[in-house]
Amino acid sequence: MKHISLILIFISSLLFAAEFREGTLFLEINLATDQRIEISANTTYISDESGLFGQELHGNLAFESLPGAVESRFGILDWVQEAGPESPPDGVLSKSFAWEEDHLVLKQEMHYFLEQSFSDKDRALDFAHVLGINPKNVHEIPIVNPRIKVIDASGEEFYFESPIRIISDQLWLRDRVYDSEFVLKVINGKLVLNHVVPLEEYIAGVIPNEIGNDCPMEALKAQAVAARSHAVSLLLYNRHQNDGYDLCNSTHCQVYKGKYLRNDEINQAVSATALEIMTVEDRVADATYHSSCGGKTDSSHAIWNGKDIPHLSGSICIPEAKNFDLTSESGAARWIDSPLDTSGMSSWERGSLNWQKNISSSELAKNLGVSSIRSIRIVKRGKSGRITSMLINNTHRIDGEYRVRQAFGMLPSSFFYFAGQAGKNIIYPGKMITLKGRGSGHGVGMCQVGALRMSRNGKNYTEILQTYYPNIRLSTQWIPDEYK
Ligand SMILES: [Zn+2]
Ligand SMILES: [Zn+2]
Repeated sequence: MKHISLILIFISSLLFAAEFREGTLFLEINLATDQRIEISANTTYISDESGLFGQELHGNLAFESLPGAVESRFGILDWVQEAGPESPPDGVLSKSFAWEEDHLVLKQEMHYFLEQSFSDKDRALDFAHVLGINPKNVHEIPIVNPRIKVIDASGEEFYFESPIRIISDQLWLRDRVYDSEFVLKVINGKLVLNHVVPLEEYIAGVIPNEIGNDCPMEALKAQAVAARSHAVSLLLYNRHQNDGYDLCNSTHCQVYKGKYLRNDEINQAVSATALEIMTVEDRVADATYHSSCGGKTDSSHAIWNGKDIPHLSGSICIPEAKNFDLTSESGAARWIDSPLDTSGMSSWERGSLNWQKNISSSELAKNLGVSSIRSIRIVKRGKSGRITSMLINNTHRIDGEYRVRQAFGMLPSSFFYFAGQAGKNIIYPGKMITLKGRGSGHGVGMCQVGALRMSRNGKNYTEILQTYYPNIRLSTQWIPDEYK
């Protein structure tokens, strides 16, 4: 069968992000996605992919994608083969991460499309249907390199073909400053600005936003290993593959703000644990983490309903919590009311361990889309005491810890009891509802407040990690030799 003969090589650089450079994994972290992006820098050097057409620009710059410049077509994927020197050239190069044996690899495949292509997605779908081809094989293919307009402070305009590389030693985007290397491309008609950073730089940029920059060293190291393991497992999901970057910079992946709040201690924690990730049976251990469990961490199965993950099945964080069954109403309430030693803790740590929140019954009804609240039944709590299922008025079910938190007006956690109703399964609320709770976040994996406490008590980062991710191993040997 013949294939589209348009050479689509540019798509390779459009859709893939990460690469290995002399054994170092470089990632593209998204900083902004918009129709128009404004930056400021003393000096920026902008060039196209080939590096042949470059321009040094100064001061404030605005980037715009030119509408209508991309003529996209809908094609039908016919076959896929591993990319190599012998691959026929009329395919589209696609890159994605995979874990092979005990290594992270970047898979390169050539995707070949049927000769017929369509300007309209529905027509492509109809055609696929007639041929009995799975609709998933219909893909959008931009066939012209989109152009990007750059306007400098004096109003002068410059034009480049997407994607463009930007080099700057100080690039301001909104109120944050970043340095070194960037890539700007057009994805689905929008500009996508990514920071191109080595993995270790990325980890150093995540830690201060996820645990803070004023922490004991062993907690910082534990956070570095957890963030690195989490990053590698996120890469394996390839969930931003079609967005034009590897990881986003928000809580969806991990919060990243360049060198903001970074200090010597963070740099030291990253270099002392360089390349270390957690593995289980030679695979990357999923290393999710949260602010504060409130006593015990929960199992990923109870919180997200997926399969059992042995190293995410819940741990004792505060030793005294061991004597309380937090899945029971009376145990949960007694533990929430029992005093804790919070000496040496910062105010956010203390706040996450004991909180109280009021919500009117009418507001709760509004959040749930019911006319009034007659009864609330607590159906299920996880090991950490988090409520994972509730029944309102005997008819309206709320499933999942996140939905419970949302219903009550975004609570820190779903580990709470109703004040004045301790130990009861069914609550008949008055006009005003007072909740007393512990913990902040989903409760799965490492508890940051617990990691801080353990490090103040002289535990080292491997002991901290083993507490929250039992039976994991630490590995630094996961980049294949061929990339070095
Ligand atoms: Zn994300
Ligand atoms: Zn904890």
